[in-house]
Amino acid sequence: MSYLLKSATVTTLGPPTLGRADLRVAAGRIVERGSQLDPREGDEIIDLTGKLVMPGMVCAHTHLYSAFARGMPAPPRTPASFKEILELIWWRLDRALDEETIYWSAVAGALDAARAGTTCLFDHHASPSHISGSLQIVREAIEKVGLRAVLCYEVTDRGGAADRDRGLEENRAFLQWVSASRQSPDEPQPDLFRAMVGAHASFTLSDESLDACAALMREFDAGLHIHVAEDQCDVEDARARYGTGVVERLARHGALNSKSILAHGTHLSDEEIEIARSAGTWFAHNPRSNMNNQVGYAPVERLGERVVLGTDGIGADMFEEARSAFFKGRDARTGLDADSWLRVMANNHRLASGAFGVDLGALREGSLADLIVLDYESPTPLTSDNLAWHLAFGISSASVESVMVNGRFVTRNKQATLDEADLLSQCRRAAEKLWAKMKEL
Ligand SMILES: [Zn+2]
Repeated sequence: MSYLLKSATVTTLGPPTLGRADLRVAAGRIVERGSQLDPREGDEIIDLTGKLVMPGMVCAHTHLYSAFARGMPAPPRTPASFKEILELIWWRLDRALDEETIYWSAVAGALDAARAGTTCLFDHHASPSHISGSLQIVREAIEKVGLRAVLCYEVTDRGGAADRDRGLEENRAFLQWVSASRQSPDEPQPDLFRAMVGAHASFTLSDESLDACAALMREFDAGLHIHVAEDQCDVEDARARYGTGVVERLARHGALNSKSILAHGTHLSDEEIEIARSAGTWFAHNPRSNMNNQVGYAPVERLGERVVLGTDGIGADMFEEARSAFFKGRDARTGLDADSWLRVMANNHRLASGAFGVDLGALREGSLADLIVLDYESPTPLTSDNLAWHLAFGISSASVESVMVNGRFVTRNKQATLDEADLLSQCRRAAEKLWAKMKEL
């Protein structure tokens, strides 16, 4: 199936550009871009006059397994610290996950992402009662919805050495699956999945566990996806038990490289930031999650050039996350303006382009056809110079009309290509089952 997208206002974020163009999409890619392309045999012509076409949004840190947290029963008591938030909420939820609820929570999270125009997810998965095979279940769910993703399993010592080893093996199995099924970048239909080595956080990982993660990274030339200094407790633990900072500890174990994502970085010193920057790692900022967990405000203006945005499981609406980042930054008087956040949103495309080895952010010939169509009627002129301010105050996921991933429509004119009502009813059934299980834990 090939498409000729006519007369769209093609909009990119890094650098911000806006211009009327036609795009021809075939075999998962943009195969031609021009001011006036003629239809070819087999092209379906779609008139997008007055519509914006943007690269699909990328979420750099999320947990699809938390999709059923929305409206779940309250914890047995109100958590008094970040560790208690983990123990009383998230670690009860992830322990309750089984094969069925892993699948349906991932379907729910992926549907949410698709609706918001997010086409690529960097997921950080945990399901301690069902570790082996869990990443394939998450993959099947994401594939069902039709999105792109980079998956990993959160290695942790919290369940003992046997579970830690199962987590390592689960990462290995998925890294191997990706290597085996990976096509060359020149293949006509690019594949949808990549893998990282997942780890929970320094404070739940022994030296031996970190070494094992680093060995996997070396073996598969993979990045580490880990929570770093999300709360002060992670910093205090590294100081008390290992006499070092969290980032320095990762560096000492050879667990930092330029493919790695350090989520949060809320409580990092300049020295720690410098170690991560010199290793070229990405920092994933998750402003709504940080506010919700009351862990503090990450020093985003000091984290350097490789900052990306994640939702940390609070849906996958990157327009909303970027807007929250903007307002939080204003409120904290950081001096970060809308253009700063536009650059960060563009970084998310750079991160995903690096992971897949092909361009995901430029909407030019050869780019992957991961794109969204927005119906955004602005009362004021929209230009490449003021795009950032339209993103801060106007453009939202409500404007997303159609979503295409790998050259296939996932939603078209706000209609999902799947039977969404049926899927959501199965999600609700699975959520009830998960909530009942949580009460027993
Ligand atoms: Zn997280």
